[in-house]
Amino acid sequence: MRLILVVVLLLTAALILASFAMAEPLPANELGRIMILEYHKIDYPEERWTRTPENFRKDLETLYARGYRLQSLNALIEGRVTVPAGTTPVVLTFDDSSPGQFRYVDRDGAPEIDPKSAVGVLEAFIKAKPDFGRAATFFVLPAADPPNRFFNQPEHVTRKLRWLVDNGYELGNHTLWHANLGKYDETVVRAQLADAQAWVQKHVPDYKLRTLALPHGIYPKQVGWALTGTAKGTTYQHEGILMVSGGAAPSPFAAKFNPLRVPRIQALERDLKEWLTHFDKTPEDRFVSDGDPSTVTITSTQHALLRPNLPKSLKVIER
Ligand SMILES: [Zn+2]
Repeated sequence: MRLILVVVLLLTAALILASFAMAEPLPANELGRIMILEYHKIDYPEERWTRTPENFRKDLETLYARGYRLQSLNALIEGRVTVPAGTTPVVLTFDDSSPGQFRYVDRDGAPEIDPKSAVGVLEAFIKAKPDFGRAATFFVLPAADPPNRFFNQPEHVTRKLRWLVDNGYELGNHTLWHANLGKYDETVVRAQLADAQAWVQKHVPDYKLRTLALPHGIYPKQVGWALTGTAKGTTYQHEGILMVSGGAAPSPFAAKFNPLRVPRIQALERDLKEWLTHFDKTPEDRFVSDGDPSTVTITSTQHALLRPNLPKSLKVIER
């Protein structure tokens, strides 16, 4: 009798272990939605527009453990999903270039990235989990009043912007000083966007801001003003325009995807939790990569949901 019990227990344990070992990667679902998270301050105390460094680290841990991997925003907008097979892309965005997003501290006379700033937290996490990927977009303000002018350390602006660009991060346009674009005429709107780019290029020559996050989420009277143009000798061109809210973004391969209206999720503890729970309960809504940036994997019933103007380089595959 006792022997039977032992055998049954052993078999059960073996089955449980086997089910863990065989936990298959999620099937590709490349018409699912993607979270573009929007952070503001990384600082103390935790508030509506502030996430502490510790809580930001917790967000990264949660995302990693649930199979999310960092995705470049520029690549996403152009229809290139680069995260490994079976994982879900997540985009990190930081608005307003506040000091806690990227700070240098003095270490024996040499500047070192503050481990309590967003970049410091991210870098430490990526070092521990290299397969998390490396990507985030910083929507900077070149001429806002301090402390929001280029992360608030004038002596380090060039060092910071170049470091970001050299290390796989992106810069985005957020206007010169957080202008409400709905309030101004065409000349001012275009100058705000062109000047922001010109300022960034003073530090990182030739760098092109390819995305725009609308201050306050407010569109100019004509969306075309925000897309492309020239003012004061500088040409700008934005391939994606990001809003301040709206939930998870449609897949860049979906008919619903509109690069001029890309929604984001404000990275508040409650909202992030709600969305993670949503995707756990509704896996068919969750984007899962097939691991190949040149293919789009869908089911046989999903063809009608595809964007009619998919980039020609992409091959559609049925799973
Ligand atoms: Zn802003």
